[in-house]
Amino acid sequence: MSAKLFAALAIALTPVLAFARPVPVGPDRAATKAIVQQCEGKDDFSAPAPPARLYGNTFYVGTCTVSVLLVTSPQGHVLVDSATEQAVPSILANIRTLGFRPEDIRWIVSSHEHFDHVGGLAALQKATGAKVALSAPAAAVIATGKVDPADSQAAALKDDDFAPVQADRIVGTGDVVQVGPLRLTMLATPGHTNGSSSWTWQSCAQQRCETISYIDSISALAAGSYRFSDHPDVVARFHRTFAAIAAQQCGILVTPHPSVSALFQRMLGEEPLAPPTACRDYAAMGRNGLNAKLVKETIK
Ligand SMILES: [Zn+2]
Repeated sequence: MSAKLFAALAIALTPVLAFARPVPVGPDRAATKAIVQQCEGKDDFSAPAPPARLYGNTFYVGTCTVSVLLVTSPQGHVLVDSATEQAVPSILANIRTLGFRPEDIRWIVSSHEHFDHVGGLAALQKATGAKVALSAPAAAVIATGKVDPADSQAAALKDDDFAPVQADRIVGTGDVVQVGPLRLTMLATPGHTNGSSSWTWQSCAQQRCETISYIDSISALAAGSYRFSDHPDVVARFHRTFAAIAAQQCGILVTPHPSVSALFQRMLGEEPLAPPTACRDYAAMGRNGLNAKLVKETIK
């Protein structure tokens, strides 16, 4: 083959070769190892952690103990949760470290209206120019920047105010937040708070797709004189949520506090990443927790 022909062939094949180069798909184990190392012994909500790919176009950009996920596309990104206000600089740095621009985030969605998951929302909205989609009950609380007085943990969270945010869109079960090819579907999962929201989407790379399920906290936590046994409506709401979660095919389960679902251990391959019973097991954990709490209340 002449040198000229070879050069012409190489140029013609370049886009094919670039396309054929394998795109990383599964969890970035080296990056996850860096998270675990940096986070050892750190239980602060705002303790910075480095970022790591979770699967395909979904990345962990949160702190040592509070999840924030970035879901990316060439037409713009979605940020799932905001952690604390103090965590915002590290979240923005993580997004840039991964090679993405915070200004390309089009929507921010959230799990629930507590300061450790939405405290950074106002600052992230400002830094990114993104719109905010919230459930109606969460939007009402987040607009005040104060814990809901009816919240089971209100007595413990009364000093944890956060910068208020007005929702750009109110979402309920089945509603979809869409950016280019990204479609995040909302599932209302009230219980831990009245506005608790879960989100599911498909993360694809190299024609391999996984469902990512960001399922909200379902712990029945009470503070002060609050007793779940005094609130049968809240208990009933919890049970409907457990049933709804148990019915999901989770794929890769992510929880707002990563340790609750051993996220980093699963990303490291120490435990299965997407066991088929993940959502059922998670719902059972919540149900057991609530039942234990109710029993405790009767013997107090
Ligand atoms: Zn909470």
